[in-house]
Amino acid sequence: MGQDLSLRSLLSATLLPSNEARILLAHLLDKHYQLPRSALLAHDDMELNEQALEDWRALESKRLQGEPIAYLIGKRGFYSIELQVAPGVLIPRPETELLVDIGLREIQRITKETEAAQVLDLGTGSGAIALAIAHEAPSAIVTATDQSSEALEIAKSNAKHLGLESRVQFMQGNWYEALGGNALFDVILSNPPYIAHQDPHLTQGDLRFEPISALTDHGNGLTCLETIIQGAVNHLKPMGLIAVEHGFDQSQQVSRLMSNEGLLNINHAVDLSGHIRVTFARKASS
Ligand code: GLN
Repeated sequence: MGQDLSLRSLLSATLLPSNEARILLAHLLDKHYQLPRSALLAHDDMELNEQALEDWRALESKRLQGEPIAYLIGKRGFYSIELQVAPGVLIPRPETELLVDIGLREIQRITKETEAAQVLDLGTGSGAIALAIAHEAPSAIVTATDQSSEALEIAKSNAKHLGLESRVQFMQGNWYEALGGNALFDVILSNPPYIAHQDPHLTQGDLRFEPISALTDHGNGLTCLETIIQGAVNHLKPMGLIAVEHGFDQSQQVSRLMSNEGLLNINHAVDLSGHIRVTFARKASS
Protein backbone atom coordinates (compact mmCIF):
# COMPACT_ATOMS: atom_id res chain seq x y z
CA MET A 1 0.00 0.00 0.00
CA GLY A 2 1.38 3.43 -0.97
CA GLN A 3 2.02 6.12 1.60
CA ASP A 4 -0.88 8.53 2.20
CA LEU A 5 0.33 11.80 0.68
CA SER A 6 -2.88 13.78 1.04
CA LEU A 7 -2.74 17.34 2.35
CA ARG A 8 -4.49 16.11 5.47
CA SER A 9 -1.87 13.49 6.21
CA LEU A 10 1.04 15.84 5.42
CA LEU A 11 -0.45 18.31 7.88
CA SER A 12 -0.91 15.72 10.58
CA ALA A 13 2.56 14.21 10.12
CA THR A 14 4.63 17.41 10.07
CA LEU A 15 6.68 18.53 13.05
CA LEU A 16 5.93 22.17 12.18
CA PRO A 17 3.29 24.15 14.09
CA SER A 18 0.09 23.72 12.09
CA ASN A 19 -0.32 27.43 11.25
CA GLU A 20 3.17 27.45 9.72
CA ALA A 21 2.60 24.22 7.80
CA ARG A 22 -0.62 25.69 6.44
CA ILE A 23 1.11 28.85 5.22
CA LEU A 24 3.76 26.80 3.41
CA LEU A 25 1.23 24.39 1.89
CA ALA A 26 -1.02 27.25 0.80
CA HIS A 27 2.00 28.76 -0.94
CA LEU A 28 2.63 25.47 -2.78
CA LEU A 29 -1.03 25.07 -3.75
CA ASP A 30 -0.90 28.52 -5.30
CA LYS A 31 2.47 27.95 -6.98
CA HIS A 32 1.77 24.47 -8.43
CA TYR A 33 -1.99 24.44 -8.89
CA GLN A 34 -3.10 28.12 -8.71
CA LEU A 35 -5.45 27.01 -5.97
CA PRO A 36 -6.55 29.34 -3.15
CA ARG A 37 -5.72 28.70 0.48
CA SER A 38 -9.25 27.38 1.06
CA ALA A 39 -8.23 24.24 -0.88
CA LEU A 40 -6.42 23.14 2.29
CA LEU A 41 -9.87 22.51 3.75
CA ALA A 42 -11.99 21.95 0.66
CA HIS A 43 -9.58 19.48 -0.95
CA ASP A 44 -7.73 18.08 2.03
CA ASP A 45 -7.75 14.62 0.42
CA MET A 46 -5.79 15.95 -2.56
CA GLU A 47 -2.35 14.40 -3.11
CA LEU A 48 0.52 16.64 -4.15
CA ASN A 49 2.33 15.78 -7.38
CA GLU A 50 5.99 14.80 -7.22
CA GLN A 51 7.35 18.29 -7.84
CA ALA A 52 5.07 19.91 -5.25
CA LEU A 53 5.89 17.17 -2.76
CA GLU A 54 9.61 17.72 -3.26
CA ASP A 55 9.08 21.47 -2.68
CA TRP A 56 7.10 20.71 0.47
CA ARG A 57 9.86 18.50 1.89
CA ALA A 58 12.44 21.21 1.16
CA LEU A 59 10.38 24.03 2.70
CA GLU A 60 9.46 21.91 5.71
CA SER A 61 13.07 21.05 6.45
CA LYS A 62 14.30 24.63 5.95
CA ARG A 63 11.60 25.92 8.28
CA LEU A 64 12.50 23.25 10.86
CA GLN A 65 16.03 24.66 10.70
CA GLY A 66 14.66 28.11 11.49
CA GLU A 67 14.55 29.87 8.12
CA PRO A 68 11.96 32.66 8.26
CA ILE A 69 8.60 31.89 6.65
CA ALA A 70 8.72 35.18 4.72
CA TYR A 71 11.95 34.15 2.96
CA LEU A 72 10.58 30.67 2.24
CA ILE A 73 7.46 31.98 0.53
CA GLY A 74 9.23 35.12 -0.74
CA LYS A 75 6.71 37.64 0.47
CA ARG A 76 5.36 39.54 3.45
CA GLY A 77 2.35 41.78 3.99
CA PHE A 78 3.13 45.27 5.28
CA TYR A 79 0.58 48.01 5.88
CA SER A 80 -1.72 47.81 2.83
CA ILE A 81 0.78 46.25 0.41
CA GLU A 82 2.49 42.93 -0.20
CA LEU A 83 6.27 42.99 -0.56
CA GLN A 84 8.63 40.49 -2.09
CA VAL A 85 11.37 39.67 0.37
CA ALA A 86 14.60 37.71 0.09
CA PRO A 87 17.63 37.25 2.37
CA GLY A 88 19.14 40.55 1.08
CA VAL A 89 16.56 42.60 2.99
CA LEU A 90 15.09 42.83 6.45
CA ILE A 91 11.64 41.26 6.78
CA PRO A 92 9.27 44.18 7.43
CA ARG A 93 7.84 44.16 10.97
CA PRO A 94 4.43 45.29 12.25
CA GLU A 95 5.96 47.92 14.55
CA THR A 96 7.43 49.66 11.50
CA GLU A 97 3.87 50.39 10.42
CA LEU A 98 3.89 53.02 13.22
CA LEU A 99 6.33 55.04 11.11
CA VAL A 100 3.98 54.84 8.14
CA ASP A 101 1.05 56.03 10.29
CA ILE A 102 3.04 59.01 11.56
CA GLY A 103 4.28 59.84 8.06
CA LEU A 104 0.79 59.67 6.54
CA ARG A 105 -0.70 61.86 9.26
CA GLU A 106 1.93 64.49 8.56
CA ILE A 107 1.51 64.22 4.78
CA GLN A 108 -2.21 64.81 5.18
CA ARG A 109 -1.55 67.93 7.26
CA ILE A 110 0.96 69.30 4.74
CA THR A 111 -1.17 68.48 1.71
CA LYS A 112 -4.00 70.57 3.15
CA GLU A 113 -1.74 73.57 3.68
CA THR A 114 0.60 73.47 0.71
CA GLU A 115 1.06 71.05 -2.16
CA ALA A 116 2.80 67.70 -2.39
CA ALA A 117 4.78 66.52 0.61
CA GLN A 118 8.41 65.49 0.07
CA VAL A 119 9.15 62.32 2.02
CA LEU A 120 12.48 60.56 2.64
CA ASP A 121 12.86 56.92 3.75
CA LEU A 122 16.46 56.30 4.87
CA GLY A 123 17.58 52.65 4.65
CA THR A 124 14.57 51.42 2.71
CA GLY A 125 15.47 47.70 2.56
CA SER A 126 12.56 46.00 0.78
CA GLY A 127 11.06 49.45 0.20
CA ALA A 128 8.47 48.84 2.90
CA ILE A 129 8.05 52.35 4.33
CA ALA A 130 8.54 54.28 1.08
CA LEU A 131 6.17 52.06 -0.91
CA ALA A 132 3.46 51.94 1.75
CA ILE A 133 3.56 55.77 1.86
CA ALA A 134 3.50 56.10 -1.94
CA HIS A 135 0.60 53.65 -2.12
CA GLU A 136 -1.46 55.41 0.53
CA ALA A 137 -0.63 59.01 -0.32
CA PRO A 138 -0.88 59.47 -4.10
CA SER A 139 0.33 63.07 -3.96
CA ALA A 140 3.46 62.46 -1.88
CA ILE A 141 6.86 62.65 -3.57
CA VAL A 142 8.96 59.87 -2.10
CA THR A 143 12.72 59.32 -2.04
CA ALA A 144 14.21 56.10 -0.66
CA THR A 145 17.85 55.31 0.03
CA ASP A 146 19.87 52.25 0.87
CA GLN A 147 23.55 51.43 1.01
CA SER A 148 22.99 47.92 -0.30
CA SER A 149 22.58 47.44 -4.05
CA GLU A 150 20.95 44.08 -3.36
CA ALA A 151 18.31 45.77 -1.21
CA LEU A 152 17.72 48.47 -3.83
CA GLU A 153 17.16 45.84 -6.52
CA ILE A 154 14.48 44.22 -4.36
CA ALA A 155 12.93 47.58 -3.47
CA LYS A 156 12.80 48.62 -7.14
CA SER A 157 11.26 45.33 -8.13
CA ASN A 158 8.64 45.81 -5.41
CA ALA A 159 7.94 49.32 -6.70
CA LYS A 160 7.42 47.90 -10.19
CA HIS A 161 5.12 45.11 -9.00
CA LEU A 162 3.02 47.61 -7.11
CA GLY A 163 2.88 50.01 -10.05
CA LEU A 164 4.69 52.64 -7.98
CA GLU A 165 7.98 52.91 -9.88
CA SER A 166 7.24 56.44 -11.08
CA ARG A 167 6.37 57.52 -7.54
CA VAL A 168 9.54 56.63 -5.67
CA GLN A 169 13.08 57.69 -6.45
CA PHE A 170 15.69 55.22 -5.20
CA MET A 171 19.21 56.39 -4.38
CA GLN A 172 22.19 54.36 -3.24
CA GLY A 173 24.49 55.40 -0.42
CA ASN A 174 25.12 55.80 3.25
CA TRP A 175 22.21 57.67 4.91
CA TYR A 176 22.08 61.32 3.70
CA GLU A 177 25.17 60.85 1.51
CA ALA A 178 22.94 58.95 -0.91
CA LEU A 179 21.11 62.20 -1.71
CA GLY A 180 24.25 63.78 -3.13
CA GLY A 181 23.06 67.26 -2.20
CA ASN A 182 21.00 69.34 0.11
CA ALA A 183 17.48 68.34 -0.84
CA LEU A 184 14.94 69.37 1.81
CA PHE A 185 12.09 67.17 2.99
CA ASP A 186 8.84 67.62 4.88
CA VAL A 187 9.12 64.19 6.45
CA ILE A 188 12.12 61.93 7.17
CA LEU A 189 11.38 58.35 8.22
CA SER A 190 13.86 55.63 9.11
CA ASN A 191 14.03 52.18 10.64
CA PRO A 192 17.82 51.92 10.92
CA PRO A 193 19.90 49.07 12.36
CA TYR A 194 19.67 49.72 16.10
CA ILE A 195 20.55 46.41 17.77
CA ALA A 196 23.79 46.55 19.77
CA HIS A 197 26.50 44.21 18.45
CA GLN A 198 26.57 41.92 21.49
CA ASP A 199 22.77 41.64 21.81
CA PRO A 200 21.84 37.94 22.11
CA HIS A 201 18.72 38.48 19.93
CA LEU A 202 21.03 38.58 16.90
CA THR A 203 21.63 34.85 17.34
CA GLN A 204 17.96 33.95 17.79
CA GLY A 205 14.93 33.31 15.58
CA ASP A 206 14.47 35.01 12.21
CA LEU A 207 17.29 37.48 12.91
CA ARG A 208 19.91 34.74 12.33
CA PHE A 209 18.89 34.70 8.66
CA GLU A 210 18.50 38.44 8.02
CA PRO A 211 21.26 40.75 6.71
CA ILE A 212 23.46 41.71 9.64
CA SER A 213 23.91 45.24 8.25
CA ALA A 214 20.12 45.74 8.46
CA LEU A 215 20.04 44.76 12.13
CA THR A 216 23.08 46.11 13.96
CA ASP A 217 25.39 49.11 13.73
CA HIS A 218 28.19 46.83 15.05
CA GLY A 219 28.40 49.24 17.98
CA ASN A 220 26.17 50.26 20.88
CA GLY A 221 23.04 50.34 18.72
CA LEU A 222 22.80 54.13 18.63
CA THR A 223 25.37 55.13 16.01
CA CYS A 224 23.07 55.04 12.96
CA LEU A 225 20.24 56.71 14.91
CA GLU A 226 22.74 59.41 15.88
CA THR A 227 23.86 60.00 12.27
CA ILE A 228 20.26 60.19 11.07
CA ILE A 229 19.14 62.55 13.84
CA GLN A 230 22.21 64.78 13.57
CA GLY A 231 21.73 65.16 9.82
CA ALA A 232 18.01 65.84 10.02
CA VAL A 233 18.17 69.58 10.63
CA ASN A 234 20.12 70.03 7.37
CA HIS A 235 17.60 67.99 5.38
CA LEU A 236 14.28 69.09 6.84
CA LYS A 237 12.21 72.10 5.81
CA PRO A 238 11.20 74.43 8.65
CA MET A 239 8.62 72.57 10.79
CA GLY A 240 9.61 69.33 9.02
CA LEU A 241 9.11 66.08 10.90
CA ILE A 242 11.56 63.25 11.61
CA ALA A 243 10.41 59.87 12.95
CA VAL A 244 12.72 56.95 13.74
CA GLU A 245 12.16 53.41 14.95
CA HIS A 246 14.40 52.16 17.78
CA GLY A 247 14.73 49.44 20.40
CA PHE A 248 12.32 49.22 23.36
CA ASP A 249 15.00 50.58 25.72
CA GLN A 250 16.40 53.37 23.53
CA SER A 251 13.68 56.03 23.67
CA GLN A 252 15.41 58.21 26.29
CA GLN A 253 18.69 58.23 24.39
CA VAL A 254 16.92 58.95 21.10
CA SER A 255 14.94 61.79 22.70
CA ARG A 256 18.18 63.22 24.07
CA LEU A 257 19.82 63.05 20.63
CA MET A 258 16.84 64.92 19.21
CA SER A 259 16.82 67.62 21.85
CA ASN A 260 20.60 68.06 21.44
CA GLU A 261 19.91 68.97 17.81
CA GLY A 262 17.29 71.53 18.81
CA LEU A 263 14.40 69.43 17.53
CA LEU A 264 11.05 70.29 19.13
CA ASN A 265 7.79 68.58 20.14
CA ILE A 266 9.53 65.26 20.85
CA ASN A 267 6.91 62.54 21.03
CA HIS A 268 6.61 58.74 20.97
CA ALA A 269 4.55 55.88 19.59
CA VAL A 270 4.13 52.49 21.27
CA ASP A 271 3.92 49.03 19.71
CA LEU A 272 1.31 46.39 20.46
CA SER A 273 3.21 45.27 23.57
CA GLY A 274 3.17 48.82 24.94
CA HIS A 275 6.87 49.51 24.30
CA ILE A 276 7.99 52.87 22.95
CA ARG A 277 9.40 51.92 19.55
CA VAL A 278 9.19 55.16 17.56
CA THR A 279 10.26 58.68 18.51
CA PHE A 280 9.48 61.74 16.42
CA ALA A 281 10.12 65.46 16.53
CA ARG A 282 9.99 68.65 14.50
CA LYS A 283 12.51 71.12 13.23
CA ALA A 284 11.86 74.67 14.42
CA SER A 285 9.91 77.01 12.17
CA SER A 286 12.90 79.23 11.42
N1 GLN B 1 13.05 50.17 6.02
C1 GLN B 1 13.04 48.75 5.94
C2 GLN B 1 12.04 48.20 6.93
O1 GLN B 1 11.63 48.89 7.80
C3 GLN B 1 14.42 48.17 6.19
C4 GLN B 1 15.00 48.52 7.53
C5 GLN B 1 16.36 47.92 7.79
O2 GLN B 1 16.90 47.22 6.93
N2 GLN B 1 16.90 48.18 8.96
O3 GLN B 1 11.62 47.08 6.85
